[in-house]
Amino acid sequence: MHPSSIPKSANQDTFESGARAMTEAVNAGGISAYFADSADPLHAAFKAKAVIHSGPGGMPLMGEAAQKRLSELWEEPRSGKGLAYFHVPFCETRCLYCLFYQNPFKEDASREYARRLIREIELWSDRAAQNSGLIHAVYFGGGTPTALLPEDLKAVIKAVHEHLPLANDCEITLEGRIHHFEDAKMEAALAGGVNRFSLGVQTFNSQVRQSVQRMDGRDALISRLEKLCSYDNAAVVIDLIYGFPGQTMEVWEDDLATAMTLPLDGVDCYQLNVFEKSPLAKYIANGKLPAAADTAQKADMFAKSVEVLTAHQWYRLSNNHWRQTNRERNIYNELGKSACDCLAFGCGAGGRLKGYGFMMNRSLADWSAGVDAGLKPVMVMTAPGPNWALLRTVSSDMESGAINLPCISERFGVDVDALTREVTSQWEEAGLVTRTGDWLVQTVAGQFWHVTLAQLLVDLIGKALRKEAMAA
Ligand code: SF4
Repeated sequence: MHPSSIPKSANQDTFESGARAMTEAVNAGGISAYFADSADPLHAAFKAKAVIHSGPGGMPLMGEAAQKRLSELWEEPRSGKGLAYFHVPFCETRCLYCLFYQNPFKEDASREYARRLIREIELWSDRAAQNSGLIHAVYFGGGTPTALLPEDLKAVIKAVHEHLPLANDCEITLEGRIHHFEDAKMEAALAGGVNRFSLGVQTFNSQVRQSVQRMDGRDALISRLEKLCSYDNAAVVIDLIYGFPGQTMEVWEDDLATAMTLPLDGVDCYQLNVFEKSPLAKYIANGKLPAAADTAQKADMFAKSVEVLTAHQWYRLSNNHWRQTNRERNIYNELGKSACDCLAFGCGAGGRLKGYGFMMNRSLADWSAGVDAGLKPVMVMTAPGPNWALLRTVSSDMESGAINLPCISERFGVDVDALTREVTSQWEEAGLVTRTGDWLVQTVAGQFWHVTLAQLLVDLIGKALRKEAMAA
């Protein structure tokens, strides 16, 4: 069914219902549970998308155990590529589809938050994990980092330069939205050394934007993006989302065409997930909005984005990331999925050290009290399993659109190529991947399903290795 013919108050499949169905299918079946339906690989290879982001799980550590372990890890030097993430947990309004909204923005909150964030950056700045080993990409995410006041933005970025060993070519990204991203903020960010802006446009269609409570209309978006690009001093990248209620294929084509007319450095295309607990799911359930696009419709929209961006000679950096100029490098997004370390700061920030995932306290009051008491307020950690680096490598390589399993097998001393061969051969027959030498290259259908393919590989390899370990 075409999106334009979606009936009002139709039933909506949520992300969680699909993920549960996938988990049940994989847990109930043998090897064939990992196989794709070959009848229509683009639209219906699997029941649903299995996860939001693929990757191995871990054993949770809470409270004092988490505090103690993170404190120890921060004493250990890092090696290899390094990342640093800074979270800004405020938004002026809540977008209906969002699960990440934390706190309303107020000007006073900007000042207080920046002051505490700087304190947290300084807290363990003399420890080896923070002062040794270069940081290759810094990311200010949220929430809405562009909500911070210009002087607060400047002060935080200055502290990052002072207390972290940034590589000379470190990518420094400021994420945010166009709403209230005035010239003074753009200039403060550029003066501080931000060299990449990642802005959530989602759609240029004013009506669709309004319906999901995005603030600015099409003209305002375009003129602010043109202004930001006119400084010619940083990469400007936008996110587009496909699958919103009312976002027909014609609207999506117009979104892509509009992006192609702007002097952007990059465009990232993501599919909408309707989460059970999001206001959007409630709006659809009570008939205030029509249903969002289903999986098959989103698959067509994904394929359209590949067609349009390819036709405009944009270069593909990964399945979802495209660039028009070589100013866009996409370093944080690419390394963030890999096994490399990521220091994290701020209320609700998530990071990773030596395979341990960690998240700072998501309650602003608790995080603030922790920082005021001179603590690093970690909320939870996950201890890595024995093959975490291997599994994370498989997961992140799938993001790029192609994976070399024999090469990974050699690198980690585990024959993941043989362990997965029956499944990858079936995916080949089903039209999700092709083989080119040792490479497994995703087709457009495989690219659309790549997160599910990655999670199925991680699950399959993880189970096989656990079985081998128990038998040994
Ligand atoms: S601005 Fe971003 S983080 Fe904030 S509510 Fe909207 S989508 Fe969520």
